[in-house]
Amino acid sequence: MDLFEYQGKSLFARVGVPVPDGRLAVSPSEARNAADAIGGAVVVKAQVQVGGRGKAGGIKVAESPNAAEEAASQILGMDIKGHTVHSVWVEEASEIAAEYYASFTLDRSAKKHLAMVSAQGGVDIEGVAESDPEAVVKLHVDPVVGLADWQARELVYRAKLEPTAARKAAAALKKLYGAFVALDCDLVEVNPLILTGSGDIVALDSKVSLDSNAFFRHPDFGEFEAAFHHDPIEAKAKERDLNFIKLDGSVGIVGNGAGLVMSTLDVVDLVGGSASNFLDVGGGAGADTIANALETLTHDDTVKSVLINIFGGITRCDLVAQGIIDALERLELPWPIVVRLDGTNAEEGRALLAQAGEKNLIPAATMREAAVRAVELAGGA
Ligand code: GDP
Ligand code: MN
Repeated sequence: MDLFEYQGKSLFARVGVPVPDGRLAVSPSEARNAADAIGGAVVVKAQVQVGGRGKAGGIKVAESPNAAEEAASQILGMDIKGHTVHSVWVEEASEIAAEYYASFTLDRSAKKHLAMVSAQGGVDIEGVAESDPEAVVKLHVDPVVGLADWQARELVYRAKLEPTAARKAAAALKKLYGAFVALDCDLVEVNPLILTGSGDIVALDSKVSLDSNAFFRHPDFGEFEAAFHHDPIEAKAKERDLNFIKLDGSVGIVGNGAGLVMSTLDVVDLVGGSASNFLDVGGGAGADTIANALETLTHDDTVKSVLINIFGGITRCDLVAQGIIDALERLELPWPIVVRLDGTNAEEGRALLAQAGEKNLIPAATMREAAVRAVELAGGA
């Protein structure tokens, strides 16, 4: 689970890594008040769960509360790589003497933690790693032993950070690593980790990803998730134990099992269409689940046709067919539904659908045929 920058920074502050003083704002006037309270120049930063905000225009320096209000009005509502900006973080502007990069991740193949440090931070680190691999220093950390003091110093030394920054940078690395482990993170990345004019090390950005499997150990992390902007249809689906993800095409997809749903998305794409969502009804789905899935899709007006792709294992195709028929009786379904059933009781399922005699139900024998029909019915490729 990826945190917002300000949430990651609150974790940094908790473990003693310096971060600038800041406040969250969801409107331009709140941004103005925040700037007023902080005093002096501030930086207004879009809060989205994706990087590269600077380049996208999502980060602006403001010299006055007026300018902060103006910057916030430009940034709020902005779309950054498909993420809408619902809030901005207003923080005191920092004087930057140098921009570094630091991160901790898990290197699964080495079965160790991986620390990376570079003196060339602030920019896209993948680019640096490509053009000048030497500039990104890597060090494996044994998770049983942890990051030793000498390793933190070695990272700083080999990455050639300013000697004046060395002691504080090594201390910050130790604290960040401590947070990475104690908070069950998949990733802790600071880009840039800056050296200020007065010689302090400050985390100016944060990219923290928490391992959701460890949430039971951190009840307070629920607050982070509560702050995320949930798509209303996704929330409705979640209440019904359906795994729904909104996409931007026009063919609604319903399938059982994540693998089958993903291959269905691929086949729709292959025949020139695009999926409007990912909806996995799970293994063992019965009539109610299918009816719920179809009801969920009625709330999404980008759907132009629906493709139901079921491979019966534990799930019985006749029950799925019954669910589709029930949904058609109960609900006003505004789109044609292409159905492909295979596996357990597929014959029986197809017979039920044929008996229903609904003109909006289109049987398909194969996945490809189903995809071609659904794309045609959605208005073509
Ligand atoms: P990202 O583009 O999403 O990674 O956002 P960052 O938080 O890393 O900000 C991008 C860049 O904006 C940084 O590398 C800095 O160069 C600049 N920036 C951010 N905060 C400040 C600040 O307080 N003062 C100054 N001068 N520049 C800043
Ligand atoms: Mn950054």
